[in-house]
Amino acid sequence: MRQARLFLGGAWVDGVSTAELRDKYDDRHLADVHEAGREQVDAALAGVARAQRRRVLPPYERYRVLSEAARLVAARRDAFADAVVADAGFTITDAEREADRAVQTLELSAEEAKRIHGEVVPLDGAPGVSGRHAFTIRRPLGVVCAITPFNSPLNTVAHKVGPALAAGNGVVLKPASYTPLSAGLLVEVLLEAGLPDDLIALVHGSGGTVGQWLLESPVPSFYAFTGSTEVGEHLHRTVGLRRTQLELGSLSSTIVCDDADLARAVPLCVNAAFRKAGQVCTSVQRLYVQEGVLADFVDALTAEVSGRAVGDPRQRDTFVGPVISVREADRIASWIAGAVHSGASVVTGGTRQVGVIPPTVLTDVKADMDLMCREVFGPVVSVRPFTDLDEAIAEINDTPFGLAAGIFTADLGRALTAAETLRMGSVHINETSSSRVDLMPYGGVKKSGMGVEGPRYAIEEMTEQRLITLGRP
Ligand code: NAP
Repeated sequence: MRQARLFLGGAWVDGVSTAELRDKYDDRHLADVHEAGREQVDAALAGVARAQRRRVLPPYERYRVLSEAARLVAARRDAFADAVVADAGFTITDAEREADRAVQTLELSAEEAKRIHGEVVPLDGAPGVSGRHAFTIRRPLGVVCAITPFNSPLNTVAHKVGPALAAGNGVVLKPASYTPLSAGLLVEVLLEAGLPDDLIALVHGSGGTVGQWLLESPVPSFYAFTGSTEVGEHLHRTVGLRRTQLELGSLSSTIVCDDADLARAVPLCVNAAFRKAGQVCTSVQRLYVQEGVLADFVDALTAEVSGRAVGDPRQRDTFVGPVISVREADRIASWIAGAVHSGASVVTGGTRQVGVIPPTVLTDVKADMDLMCREVFGPVVSVRPFTDLDEAIAEINDTPFGLAAGIFTADLGRALTAAETLRMGSVHINETSSSRVDLMPYGGVKKSGMGVEGPRYAIEEMTEQRLITLGRP
């Protein structure tokens, strides 16, 4: 049986107990996951802190390790994609895309490691200050604790670990309990690429125990977290004044105006609603479609989705695989049933098979239905007609969240109105809410979090600025 061990003190070790990792599609027992005890968590943190204090890797060395790691992930794309399918139940196509993006994220982190710089501060611009020079440098923080979600088991881990190492920190990583394998493979690759084995630790175990111990420890200087708003808020309350990057929940919307190019908008919306079975924080959950194109848009959307294969994620033609657990499938199915009970219509959908919810499109939805006002995190999209753009924008803004939104329009005025008034971390014109390039600054506002991902921006957060002034002796 495959073993997902802990990595601490420079060695792969057993945990104090094991849990079964089960396949998200057929429930096969895939691996034993070793869960860390409290002493192991403390030892992992202390060991990485000691190693990072002893020596900070020079930027060129960080570049070399991270670029070699990127090369190794690319060379082992199949193994990484297999791990992502085993972890998350994503289709093989989604898993390969995630592996490709992780290569990008590591490459970007490698490049940025060579560009960490401060600025010259012209002190003599102040009255009475002459002959003094000043500049800032950026120093690593120490230990970055990375806690990651199930829905991007490789690339989100790369987005935490890559910039943390590029910035000269050590890392203690706790991936989601559902998805331990991809993180383990990434640690293996970093070590093979030459990362000193005492600068990283990997601990498995539940959020309520291992995660909580990580939050209670005084050792990490920075918490890089992606997950639900509920856990993010708990993290923020627990770690006090320490710095955090919190990438949290969302309720993502995309607008389709009556002047949009539907031939472009429809396939992009379909991909953004259903890839990874809709388990993406920026998934198109709410589609605001202007009245004039509503019928054409819904027809085209339905045609694009109907008849696509669902089920086994390892079959190449599978469009939508299982969601992360049967419990989540139960919740999603009950939200669909609740919406239908309150008057919504299922335009396309199908019969649920255990953990697989077929791609589902609903119309006649109301703003107060669960499908509209709570994060679905499943392959379900609700179409909401609008006539006036300002009203659609007001409804989209009327949630506690603000991660990303998209708008399809040929009208520059409408595009600028959306850009200026949608209160989001990103607004994408002629793309969906789910558009992302890994080098972007990426983060949310309101209850979608604070801080940004994207290696260049994350490195800035994972370093601290120091001002140096120089005067003549
Ligand atoms: P989650 O339940 O919040 O878990 C995220 C991580 O936190 C997991 O590693 C979890 O461990 C850990 N955790 C749970 N309780 C903890 C505690 N008390 N102390 C420390 N760690 C704890 O989120 P998820 O269900 O895995 O992911 C889905 C959520 O992530 C969605 O809300 C989605 O919107 C959000 N997300 C946001 C972004 C973004 O960029 N804004 C991107 C991706 C996902 P266990 O797995 O062991 O519980």
